[in-house]
Amino acid sequence: MKAHDGIYLDGAWRPALSGEVIDVVDPVDEQVIARVPAAGAEDVDAAVRAARAALPGWAATAPAERAARLSALRDALAARKDEIAETVTAELGAPLAFSQAVHAAVPIAVAGSYADLAARHAFEEKVGNSTVFHEPVGVVAAITPWNYPLHQVVAKVAPALAAGCTVVLKPAEDTPLVAQLFTEAVHDAGVPAGVFNLVTGLGPVAGQALAEHPGVDLVSFTGSTAVGRTIAATAGAAVKKVALELGGKSANVILPSADLAKAVNVGVANVMSNSGQTCSAWTRMLVHRDQYDEAVELARTAAAKYGDRIGPLVNAKQQARVRGYIEKGVAEGARLVAGGAEPPRERGYFVSPTVFADVTPEMTIAQEEIFGPVLSVLRYEDEEDALRIANGTVYGLAGAVWAGDEAEAVAFARRMDTGQVDINGGRFNPLAPFGGYKQSGVGRELGAHGLAEYLQTKSLQF
Ligand code: NAP
Ligand code: MG
Repeated sequence: MKAHDGIYLDGAWRPALSGEVIDVVDPVDEQVIARVPAAGAEDVDAAVRAARAALPGWAATAPAERAARLSALRDALAARKDEIAETVTAELGAPLAFSQAVHAAVPIAVAGSYADLAARHAFEEKVGNSTVFHEPVGVVAAITPWNYPLHQVVAKVAPALAAGCTVVLKPAEDTPLVAQLFTEAVHDAGVPAGVFNLVTGLGPVAGQALAEHPGVDLVSFTGSTAVGRTIAATAGAAVKKVALELGGKSANVILPSADLAKAVNVGVANVMSNSGQTCSAWTRMLVHRDQYDEAVELARTAAAKYGDRIGPLVNAKQQARVRGYIEKGVAEGARLVAGGAEPPRERGYFVSPTVFADVTPEMTIAQEEIFGPVLSVLRYEDEEDALRIANGTVYGLAGAVWAGDEAEAVAFARRMDTGQVDINGGRFNPLAPFGGYKQSGVGRELGAHGLAEYLQTKSLQF
């Protein structure tokens, strides 16, 4: 695949001073498909300086002009949607149809939503004898993961630009190519030099240098809880703003009045999609004991259908990690009803769609984020028990409730400690605030709530 051999700094592609490179690997056949620079601390420093220099000009731009650039960015991405899908398929391994429908289409919609919001948002309001201005937070460090590689970039960069912030992006080392494509789209959209900068590189080197840089005002991070914790501690010590989108262990609660077959089938599809590499995936299915055996059988049948239709995991480390969790599930006494730790193919980082029954709430596979195509089916006695289990992890990112009656599902959802709940299979809404309760994160992305993260208020009294 074609790749830039530079980092994007102050409006142009320039060689990285570090001289180091990252090999980009296709997870289906384990072949190196491209090389990109692995930026060092001095490259990060140059990028932050460029972003800082561009800040006063961009912050002073009229919101209508920022909206016009974002609209052009949306169009530039839309014009290249096939290339986006092919790139994500090559570096992440997602099946092409899924890359088209999700990895390309969702970020285009989100970019469009911020073109609208930038045009309509009230950046100024009256509160009694005060005028309150909503001003950009400043220079944003965006550090993103590989699982929805373009979506996670757009969900940070678009609202930051809409707010009037300037940005340095450090994408995941596994998926730098779609980040380079995004950068070309930003350039083609006429965003002024220095407003957006891209440093490809390794987390502990470029990522850490960026998170620690004194020229950064806000660090927006999506990824593992372990790295998020370190970033939050560093940012806290410097009294820097931080937004974190971390892991999840979301519950899919099927109440006895629900359409069981539909709830189980949609639930299995939710976990298997993107090979289970979704932070909001409903990885715990909660079923009433009277319907338990039927639900397990439905889940087994549904998982078998996915056999050959899911892609690999992103890399060998993730494959080994997920296989380790499957072995742990067996060792702790859960019953394997589909899939297993044995890889289904010799080449590529594949894991079989896996379903565990007889999972109890304290088991490791019911508590920790696995990030692979692995579903745990848990039994509950009554609604109170279901609620206790649903709320019984350190996470609270997403979830689902199914019931015969919508009001019954809503009443249950209101008692869940989590940032999003889909009612009877409700559709993804790119304008709804997305983010976590408890250890799933700090702050919200998407829509107007996502824009607010990049703004700070100044009150003038009259
Ligand atoms: P990760 O290490 O947290 O990666 C996320 C981003 O942070 C990447 O850009 C990474 O760079 C960067 N990073 C790593 N160490 C850093 C540091 N010390 N300072 C600053 N930035 C740093 O996640 P991972 O290792 O790829 O995945 C491990 C687990 O995290 C998964 O199994 C899953 O449980 C969870 N995860 C969650 C999400 C989510 O959406 N919430 C996404 C991905 C992973 P590199 O790419 O170079 O590592
Ligand atoms: Mg990592």
